[in-house]
Amino acid sequence: MKEYNGLQNNFKEYFDSKRRIVIKIGTQVLLNEEGKLSPPSFKNICGFVNSLKAQKKEVILVSSGAIAAGKDMLGINPETGGFSIPQKQAFAACGQPVLMKNYDSFFKRYGLKTAQVLLTKEDVSVRKRFTNARNTIYELLNNGVIPIINENDTVSYEEIKFSDNDQLSALVLNLVCADLFIILSNVKGVFDKNPNIYKNAKPVKIINDIKNYIKNFKDGSKSIHGTGGMKSKLYAAFIAASAGIDTVIASGKDKKSLDFLSEGKLCGTLIVSSPRNKINKKKHWLLFGMEKTGEIVADKGAIEAITFQNKSLLAGGIIKIKGDFKKGDGVYILDENGTVFSKGIANLDSDDVKKIKGLSAEEIKIKFGKDKISSLVVHKDKMASNV
Ligand code: GLU
Repeated sequence: MKEYNGLQNNFKEYFDSKRRIVIKIGTQVLLNEEGKLSPPSFKNICGFVNSLKAQKKEVILVSSGAIAAGKDMLGINPETGGFSIPQKQAFAACGQPVLMKNYDSFFKRYGLKTAQVLLTKEDVSVRKRFTNARNTIYELLNNGVIPIINENDTVSYEEIKFSDNDQLSALVLNLVCADLFIILSNVKGVFDKNPNIYKNAKPVKIINDIKNYIKNFKDGSKSIHGTGGMKSKLYAAFIAASAGIDTVIASGKDKKSLDFLSEGKLCGTLIVSSPRNKINKKKHWLLFGMEKTGEIVADKGAIEAITFQNKSLLAGGIIKIKGDFKKGDGVYILDENGTVFSKGIANLDSDDVKKIKGLSAEEIKIKFGKDKISSLVVHKDKMASNV
C-alpha cells in the first residue's frame, strides 16, 4: 500500500510518465445549468487537452453529449425523460454532428484537428473489427489528430449496447493500449459518502483495491443527462485496473481542477491498478469485451470444479441452457441463482448441448454411439471466472 500512497506526493513524475491518455467526458460536463451545450465548457476541455498535447501526450477523447445536444436541437425540455430507444437514437443522430462541430471549432483555436469515431459493442468484441478500429485510431494519432469517440447510438440496440460510455471508454483503453484513464464528470471525484446528501462527505484521494471498494460502495446518485452514476465510473475504473491501467476521476466542470491536473497535481481520485488485480489480455477480453450469445446454468459441483480446480465445463454439470449459440460463440456460465461466475467460448452448438446436458462422457457415448458428441462444453483455456 505504501508505495501507492507515495504517488500522492510524486504525482507529477507519475503523470509525466503517462503518454497515451483516454479521457472520458460525461454529458453533464458539457452542459450549462439549463441543460444546453455550454461553449465555456468546451473551451475548458479543449484547453486542457491542448496543454496535454503540449506535453507530447497522445489524447483520445470519449465524449457523451449527443443525446442531450439532439434534444436541445429539437427544442425538447432537457429535464424530460422516459423516451423510447428509437427516440433517443434519433436525438443522438441529430446531436452528434452538433457535438463534433463544437469540439472542432474550439480545438481549431489551438490548431488541433479532430476526427469522429463511432463504435458499437461489436467493434470491440469481434476481433477483426477490433483490429480495424485500432488501426484507424493509431493512424489518427500518427497524424496528430484527436480521435473523439462516442457510441454509435443510431445502430446500437439494447442487446448489443455498451451499458454507458463509462464502459465504452474502459474497453477503448485496451483497444488503444492506453497508459492512463481520466474520467471527467460533474463531481470532484469519489467521496466517502454521497456529497449531495452528506455535508461532511470527505474526498477520497487514492483507491488501492478497487475490487473491494466497489463491493462496499453504496451510491444512490445518477445523473439526469448521462447514463452512469459514480458506481458505473468505479466499475469502469475496475475494468481499467484489471488491464493494469490507473484511473483518475476528476471534475471536468471546474477549470481549476483541469489546470491542476495538466500541471501534474493530483486532484480528484486516483484509482491504482495493483498487480494483484491485473489479468492477462485474453482473460480481460473474455470477461469484459466478449459478446454473449447464450447462457449455461451449471450445478454446484461444476461451479466448484471450474472455480477452484481450474477444470473445463462438462455436459454432466449442466442443468439448462438459454438462447441459441454456435460453437465459437460467447456464453455466460451461471449458477442456479442466476449469478454469472464465468464467461467463455462454447465448444459445441446449443442444440448438441441440449441433447447431452446432465450426462457423463460414458453416457453420451452409449446414447449417441458413433454420432459422437464431445462432453466438453467450454474448455478451461477458453474460459475466465468473474474476478
Ligand atoms: N452515447 C450517449 C450520448 O452521446 C451517452 C451515453 C452515456 O451517457 O454514457 O449522448
